[in-house]
Amino acid sequence: MKINLVEKSRIDAVNFENLSFGKIFTDHMFISKYKNGEWSAGEIKPYENISISPSARVLHYGQAIFEGMKCFKSEQDELFLFRPEENFKRFNKSSVRLAIPEIDENIFFDGLKKLVKIDSEWVKKGIGNALYIRPFVFASEPSINASEANEYTFMIICSPSKSYYGDMEISVKVEEKYSRAAKGGVGYAKAAGNYAAAFYPTKLALDQGFQQIIWTDSNNHNAIEEAGTMNLFFVIGDKLITSPTSDSILDGITRKSIIELAEFHNIDVLEREITIDEIIKEHNSGNLKEIFGSGTAVVVLPIKSFGHRDQLYTLNSEKNSISSFLKEKLNNIQYNISNEFENWKYKIN
Ligand SMILES: *Cc1c(COP(=O)(O)O)cnc(C)c1O
Repeated sequence: MKINLVEKSRIDAVNFENLSFGKIFTDHMFISKYKNGEWSAGEIKPYENISISPSARVLHYGQAIFEGMKCFKSEQDELFLFRPEENFKRFNKSSVRLAIPEIDENIFFDGLKKLVKIDSEWVKKGIGNALYIRPFVFASEPSINASEANEYTFMIICSPSKSYYGDMEISVKVEEKYSRAAKGGVGYAKAAGNYAAAFYPTKLALDQGFQQIIWTDSNNHNAIEEAGTMNLFFVIGDKLITSPTSDSILDGITRKSIIELAEFHNIDVLEREITIDEIIKEHNSGNLKEIFGSGTAVVVLPIKSFGHRDQLYTLNSEKNSISSFLKEKLNNIQYNISNEFENWKYKIN
């Protein structure tokens, strides 16, 4: 692998106390290209603009997918990724669905590990601080023929982050007109276009005073799927409930970690369909205790109210909530504070 380092780091100009998500990038990036049926070993170089043809297929047909993962720094200055093998597997699963060639495991991990090590000063200690890592691949072949490309570009860029929504609780709108994903579609893949398609309905929800959308199934708009780009959990009575993954629900790594963690701590978890009707009924009878979203960016995000048609339903705030318990347990693993689930920690040496 070729490595070309910056002459001078930009880190001194960055205010790490005041980071807005995804705006600042570290000194370096990783890039590998696919041509003639194979990926190049790739190179690390200074973070900079790239040049692509105006006819690059991604610009016309949206053939692109991405991942989102984090690197954490422990109090002992060690660097840990959280279950990166899962991101790698999902990266290729997404690629297959978009007819993008799979990336080799050693190229993905060599690039990832070297890049994070080189830019390790950008990973700050303390709960909530992390380096957000964005691997992505797009069709870079110059051609507007409407078919899959023969040339692709794979890159990894990194952005220092504080937790996405801070300590906020959000209010969400139950969406009954637009859909994020449908049966047989690309909802289970981290396809760039899934996000583009969500922006307009999300903008309408923001205009109505919500921060996110609860997506429902595209047939009946009753079965609950996800909230924005988070998986969703409900605490009803003393049970933790989440929808099963499907081709319209993304298989979140935070989601599956929360399920395992909850079970490990003797919380009853049910993976089953859950509908808006049920949520409203349980709310009205006082059994709906918590709703929270899960995802790499937010880890766990409590939802304080949801809007359905003309009605706003507000949850009572819970003192010892399951969401804050699980968030703490997960954080303790991510920052290597606890020794639970050692096999989820991927140390960078
Ligand atoms: C990335 C993503 C998630 C969260 O997945 P994690 O692996 O937990 O970060 C949930 N839903 C959608 C639609 C996503 O794109």
